[in-house]
Amino acid sequence: MEIKINDMCSWERKKAIFLMDVAEDLGISLKDYGEVAVNKNSGYTYLWSEDYNFSLYMPINCELQKSDINALWSCSECGEEISINLKDSDTLEDIEENINQIEKNHFQQEHKDKL
Ligand SMILES: [Zn+2]
Repeated sequence: MEIKINDMCSWERKKAIFLMDVAEDLGISLKDYGEVAVNKNSGYTYLWSEDYNFSLYMPINCELQKSDINALWSCSECGEEISINLKDSDTLEDIEENINQIEKNHFQQEHKDKL
């Protein structure tokens, strides 16, 4: 995983480290291809691994708590983004299940032809 630490201010680095910590606890390998970086448009700090169809992000202002982390799914067809808060998803299996449900619902509503 590429960590774009030079683009981060100290607060963003703290969030990046927290994100990596939580990701590892969940069972997301930090050795796999992906990145930890700051989104220049939103200012959010995020962690993305190619093994998953979601990324984890923290907003600009937050505490360093698990409930400050969101899992974000983006539609590959239309770019719509839907996120869930990690406080409602305790395990990686929960997150994957919730995200897959979001993806399924979105495709059923918006992209029926692609199913
Ligand atoms: Zn879509």
